[in-house]
Parts: sequence; C-alpha cells; structure tokens
Amino acid sequence: MKKILKRKNSKKAINRKNEESNSWFIAIKRVLFKYDLHSPIILLNDPPTKYSWKKSVRSAIDRYWKNILIQKSCTYKSLKYLGTLNISPGKCHTLLFIGNTSDPTREAVRISVKLKVITDTYILQSHRSRYNLNETPICKLCDIDTEDRTHFLLKCKILQCIRERYLNQINEIISDFLNFRMRDIPTDDQIQIILDCTMLLFGIPVITNYSKRIEDISRQLIYALHVARYRTLDIKKR
Ligand SMILES: [Zn+2]
Repeated sequence: MKKILKRKNSKKAINRKNEESNSWFIAIKRVLFKYDLHSPIILLNDPPTKYSWKKSVRSAIDRYWKNILIQKSCTYKSLKYLGTLNISPGKCHTLLFIGNTSDPTREAVRISVKLKVITDTYILQSHRSRYNLNETPICKLCDIDTEDRTHFLLKCKILQCIRERYLNQINEIISDFLNFRMRDIPTDDQIQIILDCTMLLFGIPVITNYSKRIEDISRQLIYALHVARYRTLDIKKR
C-alpha cells in the first residue's frame, strides 16, 4: 500500500512541476530525457528489474557519450587522423593499448609522444611561428621546408634514414594483405596509416592483428623521429 501511494505521489510531482523547477523529480526526468531512456511515468507504471535497468542505463550513457565524442571530434581539424568510429566505451583504444611488452614504461612514453602528434599538440616550427612572430615556420633540421606534421613524419631529409627502416616494416605488412605500398598512396593516407591505421583500414576482417602490428611500429617510428629531432636540434644549438 505504501509503495502504491509513493508511486501516485511521484507521478503527481512529475506532472505538476514546471520543467524549470529544481525539484528532484524534474532533475531525474531531465537525465532520463538526455540519455534517451524511458519517461519516468512509464518506469513508474512498469518498473524494470534492477539488472535490466542497470544494463539499459549503462548502454544509454555509453551510446550518448560515444555520439558526442564522434560529433565533436569531427569539428576539430587537428583531430582528423584520430579514429573515433570504432571507439567502444569501456574498452581501451588501440592507440592506448600497451599490450604484452617487456617494458611498459618505455611503451607509455612512446604512446604519449604519438598522442601529441595525432592530436597535433606536438610542437613543431609551424606551431611556434603561429604564436611567436620571431619564430620561423621553416624546419630547423633541414632549413628547406615548413616543419609541420607531414614534414616531420614523411618529408624531412635529415630524418629520412630513421624513418626508412620503420616505413619498410609497415610496407611489408600492408603489401602483405592490401596489395599496395606506402609510396603508391596519397601522402594523407600514408599519414593516416602511421597515426591511426584503424581508421583507414577499418572494416577489413583481419584488421586486428595487422593494425596492432602497424600501431606498434608506428609508435617506434614516431618516438625515434622525436629523439633524432631533439638530438639534432641540440647539436645545432651548440
Ligand atoms: Zn626538415
């Protein structure tokens, strides 16, 4: 009897209160609406079991935030290489997966450098010159071209001997199952493979193993380029 009375009073409160009200009932109504869950009246009339309610809430919240993440990331040009379509809430993104390495600390450092590059927060001369008029966008290693992400990853001649070894390994993997070589595809696609191959290769059934191998090599490549760049700049400064 008490339960029936409580339910009746709750329904009254939900129906009577203004949408702008600070009432607890209206706050709950807003949250349910935000996550596209059932209306409170339906829930009061036919309460779900605790298990099925927890399951519905979890999947509604995951769906909501996944959509927000995908929508927002599309509006940032700097995140264009970051694969968001295959994001699965609660699961580690391939870019953050440490795996079975013997040295997780070193792997974490590699991941952090790669994350900076993929989110375009790794500071190169093109970034410096944007915020400081005294800085030139020209690469200080080769003094030939603007130092942006493409130049750093694929073009700078000073870093060529470093990147060649790793690009050859990536080439071997992709030519193995996709029948093309890195040099045969547009620069933008080459960068996509290096930064987040899951986005370009997403949808291919055997992707997991290949993408993990490419991810591992691309981390090593970016870290090696990062170290070589800093060492060369340091030597030039002296
Ligand atoms: Zn250069």
